[in-house]
Parts: sequence; structure tokens; C-alpha cells
Amino acid sequence: MPNPKTLLNKKISRRQFIELLIKGAIGAGLGYITFHKTLEYLTPKPLEYKYKTVDEKKHALKEAMFYTKLAGGNVKCGVCFRGCLIPTGGRSFCRNKINDEGTLYTLVYGRPCSLQLDPIEKEPVFHMLPGSNIFCTAATSCNFRCMHCHNWQISQSFPEDARTYDLPPEKIVDEALKHDCRSVSFTYSEPTAFYEYVHDTCRLAREKGLKTIIHTNGGMQAKPMNELSRHLDAVTVDLKGFTREFYNNVSSAELQPVLDTLKLLSKKDVWLEIVNLIIPTLNDNPDDIRDMCEWIMKNVGNVPLHFNRFSPAYRMLHLPPTPPDTLETARNIALKTGLDFVYIGNMPGHEANSTYCPECGRILIRRIHFNVLENKLKDGGCRHCGREIPGVWS
Ligand code: SF4
Repeated sequence: MPNPKTLLNKKISRRQFIELLIKGAIGAGLGYITFHKTLEYLTPKPLEYKYKTVDEKKHALKEAMFYTKLAGGNVKCGVCFRGCLIPTGGRSFCRNKINDEGTLYTLVYGRPCSLQLDPIEKEPVFHMLPGSNIFCTAATSCNFRCMHCHNWQISQSFPEDARTYDLPPEKIVDEALKHDCRSVSFTYSEPTAFYEYVHDTCRLAREKGLKTIIHTNGGMQAKPMNELSRHLDAVTVDLKGFTREFYNNVSSAELQPVLDTLKLLSKKDVWLEIVNLIIPTLNDNPDDIRDMCEWIMKNVGNVPLHFNRFSPAYRMLHLPPTPPDTLETARNIALKTGLDFVYIGNMPGHEANSTYCPECGRILIRRIHFNVLENKLKDGGCRHCGREIPGVWS
């Protein structure tokens, strides 16, 4: 047995040994405190929104945007199509807002529950800065109730039930720059449900040279979307189906506001892509898919369309994954309708993960799933035939 009072074979006295132990303990303690202080802002904690004083309230809550004060302390939110009427002391449908004595507050400003670095293709955004990294942020909850939600653990929870980070807009921007991201993105849950945070972060990110993206269900009202789009570079909209029944029964939502949002965005200086997740038996009718593609061509334009494969999740565990044939049929319908860039997603390795030149048919951006293997674009066009390819390439 080595003598515990021997250090590197050097004999030390009992007093020296005790001193060393004390110094070591102090050093370890200081190191622990420093380490945790440094990373404190990246440590998720339960959200504390109860307050005792007016000052504490101001710090914990941020007043909401786009709402109207009504008689009797009631308020009406104007951010999404629901237009929640909230009595004093009440909570919004999206769970993130409270009416405190006639003032509407958001509970999630600067309090995201998810942070991640992703390739931009995961959004999916296929026609902007291919292969670049994006800094993704999400807060809790949503204004839809989709039964197939893949992120239901955050989209269907209350902010005070989640562990959240303390990251105001300037820290999101700092982190994005620190990690060499070209864009910040608000995704996973619904940006509409944490509008104020998205708005301020996008505005600041743009000032610092970053691009900004949201992935949305499209349920925002025109006024807040007009304002937000001033600070956006790209938007991915989920067009979940093309019937009112689908939106009512599967998402507890409405189709028309989403169509209105798509029309509005098509007139903005914002890059737009559309995702349609095909769920067997619920929205896979070829006639509905044809109607949807024709509507997109006529009302939105020749934008990239992603048909994504469904896999069982949340309250839809009883349905099978989408058969590849169904996705390919949908893609053929869309191409025949005149859409030039039609992708198949959630099927890694499918040839429709890649971008082809609509003119000469050659491959332009070769992808497997979210990974860009090859980019043959030249000056924003096909290097073979020179056809211009729409997108944000630099
Ligand atoms: S954003 Fe939230 S509070 Fe506002 S209308 Fe929509 S669900 Fe209601």
C-alpha cells in the first residue's frame, strides 16, 4: 500500500498533507462555481413566472404585441386566427399568454425550451444557403393541436412545466454567431405562440448580419405577419392538408387562415417553401393533392414543395408510415401541375431529396436526407444549361 502521506515518492509532513487537502478542496469548489457560472445561461431551469412585486413582474413577463384591451379588464389577442378573448386572470389557448389585470403578457420571452444546431435542409429550406448551419430555437406550446405532432412533448406543454433557458434575443444572436451559423430559425414548436421573442430576435439577428427563418403552421393573422416579415428571410409553411375536415379533425384548426398566410407571404420579399406531410387515409387523396398543387401554382407561385413521409407519433400511433408509392404519386401530380421543385422528405436516399434543373433535368444539388453531397449551381443557375434557379444562394 502506498503511504497516503507520500506525494510523487516525496515524503511530506502530516501538516503539509492536511494543507494540501484543504487547498485541493477550495480549488475544486472554486472551479465548480466558475464552471457553473459560465454555463449558467445554458442550463435549463423551471420557469418561475409568479411574482411578488411590480418590479419582479416587469422582469419576469413581457407585454404581448397585437392585442386589444376591452372593457372589464378583458383582452383580445390578435396574433393568430383564434383571436383569443381572455378575461383577467385567464390563460390563452396557446398556453403562453396570461391576462394580468387587463394587460396581456407572454410567459416565454427569452425562455426557450429547445436549442439546437441543424443543417438548413432540416427546416426544410432547400433553396437558401445550402449546407449552412442554422441556430434553432423553440419555446413551449402551440396554437394548433395536431394529433400527429412529432414534437408534442414541447408543443403541447405549459411553459411552467418545461425546463427553459434564460436566453434573451441578444444571447441567441451571440450563440448563433459563436457557432458559425448563417441563420437563426424558430422551429420545432409554433413561432406564432412566442411571437414577441421571435420578432425581437429576428430584428436583432438581421442587424448582426444573420439570416432569419421561421417554420410555421401558417395560422398567424395578417397584421403580425406583415410586421414580422419585415425581419424575415425565409419561411417554411406547413400546408397540412387541403380540406377543412382535415384541419378541423386532425389539428383542431382551420384551413383558410393558412391559405391566407401563403397568399400574403407570396407577395413579400421572403423566401417561401411549403411542406405537406402525407398521412395515410387522412390527406392522401390524389384529387385533393391535385387541387392543392393547382391552388399553390395559381395563388402562391412556383415555390418548392416538400411531400414528407409520416411516421406514427403522439396520438396517431395506429396509422402506418406513408408508403413510398403515395409520396411518388403526389410528386408526379405536383410536377404535372407545373411545380418545378418538388421534394420527398423523411425518406433518406430517395432521388427526390435532390434538386434537378427543370430545363435540362441534370442534378444540381445532390442530397441524402439533410446532407448536401454536391452543389453544382453556378451564379444561382444551372451550370450546364444556364437556367436560373430561384433561391437565396449567397
Ligand atoms: S397567439 Fe395564442 S393568445 Fe393569441 S390568438 Fe393565438 S392562441 Fe390565442
